[in-house]
Amino acid sequence: MRNTIIDYFISLVKIDSESGEEKTIAQKLEQDFKELGAETRFDNANNKTGGNIGNFYAYFKGDIDKEPILFCAHMDTVTPGKNIKPEILEDRITSDGTTVLGADDKSGIAQIYCAIKELKDSNEDHAPIEVLFTISEEVGLLGAKNLDYSMIRSGKGYALDTHGIGEIVLGAPSQNSMKYIIHGKESHAGSEPEHGINAIRIASEAIAIMPMGRIDAETTCNVGIIEGGKATNIIPNMVTIRAEARSHDKEKLEKVTDQITQALTKTAEKYKLKDFQAKVDVEIKEEYSSFKLNDDDELVLLAKKASENVGLTFNASVGGGGSDANIFNRKGIKMCIAGTGMSKVHTVDEYILISDLENGAKWVKEIIREHSGN
Ligand SMILES: [Zn+2]
Repeated sequence: MRNTIIDYFISLVKIDSESGEEKTIAQKLEQDFKELGAETRFDNANNKTGGNIGNFYAYFKGDIDKEPILFCAHMDTVTPGKNIKPEILEDRITSDGTTVLGADDKSGIAQIYCAIKELKDSNEDHAPIEVLFTISEEVGLLGAKNLDYSMIRSGKGYALDTHGIGEIVLGAPSQNSMKYIIHGKESHAGSEPEHGINAIRIASEAIAIMPMGRIDAETTCNVGIIEGGKATNIIPNMVTIRAEARSHDKEKLEKVTDQITQALTKTAEKYKLKDFQAKVDVEIKEEYSSFKLNDDDELVLLAKKASENVGLTFNASVGGGGSDANIFNRKGIKMCIAGTGMSKVHTVDEYILISDLENGAKWVKEIIREHSGN
C-alpha cells in the first residue's frame, strides 16, 4: 500500500481546492472512482453554496443483501491552500511552510480511496459502500447542509476528519454564532463629549461581565472579533462584536448565549441622553447541533474491532468541534468521526506521519471487511 497511498495523497494535495473551488479535484476523484467501478454523481449543492461544483457521491454495489456503509470526507481546504508543495521527509509529509498541507481532509480521501482500491484489487466481496466527498466544509459545513440526502442509502457511516489513527469522536457540541452591533452616538470628543455615547465603552463594560472561555466540561464561549471606531477625537457610535458559544447540552448552550446577549443589551440600556438611547442589534445563528453516540454503539464497536485486527490502539472520545458529522446525525444518518493522522491542521506546520497515512487506509479497509462479515 505504501507507494500507492503516498503517491495518491501527494497528487491530491497538489490540486488547489480551497472552499468553493473544488471542481478540479472533484473531477479527478470522479475519474478515479469510476475506474474502481463505482457509479458516481454530483448533486447541485453548489447552487446554494456558490461553489464551482456540488458534493461528490460514489456507490460500489457489492453484495446487496448486506447493509450499505458510508464513508465521508471533505474536498475543500482552508487558506493558505493554493500552490501547495508537499515535501516527503523521512517519517512524514509536510508543506514547504508557506501553505497548509491539506491533510485535512485529503488524508481521509486518500485512505478511503486506497482502502477500496485494495479490496477491489483482491476481488474480495463486500457490503455496498457509499462514498461522499463534500464541498465547503471549512466555511460552515455548507456542503453537508445543502446535500441532496435522497442519494444516501446508508443509515450509518464514518466521517474521516479528525486527528489520531484508531481514534473515534463519538459526540460533538452544538454551536451558536452571534453578531452584535452596538449603537452609540457620535460626537466630537474634545468639544462636545457630553453629547456622545461611546459604543466602545458599552462593549468593554459588557465584555467584562459576560461569561468567557470554559464554562463547564461541556460548554465554552468566546468573543473573537471586535471592530469599531474611526479616530481618537470622535466618540464612536458603532461597535460590532462577533462571538460564539458551544455546548454538548442544548439548554446550557441557550443559557450561555443568553447571558452574553443580556450583558450587552442590559449595559446598553444604561446609556442614554435626553433624545437618544443606546441599543444593540442581535443576530444569533445556530451553526449546527450536537450529537452523541453511546460507547457501545455498533459504529464504535466496529471501529474498535477493526483497529484491534490491524494492531492499532483504539480510543473513543467526545470532541469540541463541529464537522459534517453534526449535520449527518441531525439528518438521521448515524455517524462518528474517525482519525486520519492529520496533525497541526489549519496551520502552515500541518503534517501527517507516513505510517499514519498507511495505517488509516488499513483501518478503513478492515472496517469494511468487518462490516461485510469477512
Ligand atoms: Zn476537516
